Amino acid sequence: MRSTDTETDTDSMPFPPTSRSTPTGVASPTRRLATSCILSGLLLGLLPAATGAQQSSAAPPGPESPRPHVLLLTVDTLRADHLSIYGSKQPRTPHIDALARRGLLFEDALTTIGKTGPAFASAFSSLHPPTHGARRNGVPVRDDVPLLAEILAQNGYRTAAFISNWTLRDHLSGLARGFDVWDEDFSKRRYGVGPSERRADSVIAATVKWTKKAAASPGPLLIWAHFSEPHTPYDEHDGFRFRVEPGERRTPQVAKRLRYASEVAYTDAKIGELLRRLESHIDLDRTLILFFADHGESIGEHDYWGHGRNVHWPNLDIPLAIVGPGVPQQRRSTMPASIIDVLPTVLGALRIPAPEAIEGLDLLQHWQTPDDARQRFAVADRSTALFEKAKEEYADPLQIAMQTRSVKTIFDFDMRQTRYYDLRRDPLELESDINPPLELKPPLRRRLANWYRGLPKHDADEGPLSEEDRKQLESLGYTGGR
Ligand SMILES: [Zn+2]
Repeated sequence: MRSTDTETDTDSMPFPPTSRSTPTGVASPTRRLATSCILSGLLLGLLPAATGAQQSSAAPPGPESPRPHVLLLTVDTLRADHLSIYGSKQPRTPHIDALARRGLLFEDALTTIGKTGPAFASAFSSLHPPTHGARRNGVPVRDDVPLLAEILAQNGYRTAAFISNWTLRDHLSGLARGFDVWDEDFSKRRYGVGPSERRADSVIAATVKWTKKAAASPGPLLIWAHFSEPHTPYDEHDGFRFRVEPGERRTPQVAKRLRYASEVAYTDAKIGELLRRLESHIDLDRTLILFFADHGESIGEHDYWGHGRNVHWPNLDIPLAIVGPGVPQQRRSTMPASIIDVLPTVLGALRIPAPEAIEGLDLLQHWQTPDDARQRFAVADRSTALFEKAKEEYADPLQIAMQTRSVKTIFDFDMRQTRYYDLRRDPLELESDINPPLELKPPLRRRLANWYRGLPKHDADEGPLSEEDRKQLESLGYTGGR
């Protein structure tokens, strides 16, 4: 029997056996499987069970206490299931695990779109891409949309961002608004061919240098440090090399997956280094830290390598952890979370009113009362403004999706087809069913269509792309209409 999107008893449902793992053994097959392992006690020792005794939470800031620093730690293109705290066997990610263990981890978090600029625009505006206007990389967020850094700056924060992905450059993303310092120095390039990705060492050095100086004066800081190592092209790092599983052949695809795992493990070590160095300048126990990714990465699933061109789980599932004053410690939540929850969660923790038009939730208010039927939405849009005809001929996105804990509904605009996935029976989204029971199909299709039709849609103007922008976006794989 198929599940419905209104059922609530998700945790009692068995998940498919773990034998459906990816052939490399690099990571557990899905974040959802990892979750089931955790819930069934197979990963005991990583964290207390979600039903265990409440751990003490760090004291929330009182009405008179100074506002805490805010640290946004983000990793580009990081699949949740490649973190050991989400069940990965290889790579191990001890630093991210240790950070998440200090706070509240969301087991089921989704992005709104598998593209860097648009996804961060969702995090910092709490709006979906059709509404905030940054539908593609290279299209900046609308300039009348309030952004997190802007709101914090208005509330006494000194703000700085250290970005590492070319698509986040201000003239392409519009996300520098509200930051006193917007460091988009791409002179330390990872690859000789182009500076599209900035090295982690460069991000760390700049972040620590600014923080050291800023922390010498009183007042709260907003620091955003962004790492891009897991973004294609994948590199293999010394000290973080992984071998094929016994009996497994090292095919080009397996080797590619191992290189992605190496990037993730290396980034984890760099996050550990950044936190160690920041500790010398700010009290991290009194800092509100959000760790998340902008989107995931398809490493061969659904015959696709990359991100952004479909709305399946490898693209959408992201890690999300919150740590800091007033945040529960050593807890996991099954609350269906979205990247659009970042802005209201930060503002809620700081007791700053959120803009009226937001679409997300304050997760610190909702984490204990999971709404398993919460509908989260996502889009996959044409690649970039590089595709000259995108705007005129392809006003619609490629796909749109609506997801609860149990059911995913996808509408593909090119194929004019609605597909349904029973996530409890088919967490890998392999067996689409275009003919679910009649009682299920019309409401889901209607809700998804109503969401998309009802969205206030605003196309932001595409900024002029220089030849250098075109080259760098192309080197990151953002070309073509599909
Ligand atoms: Zn990205």
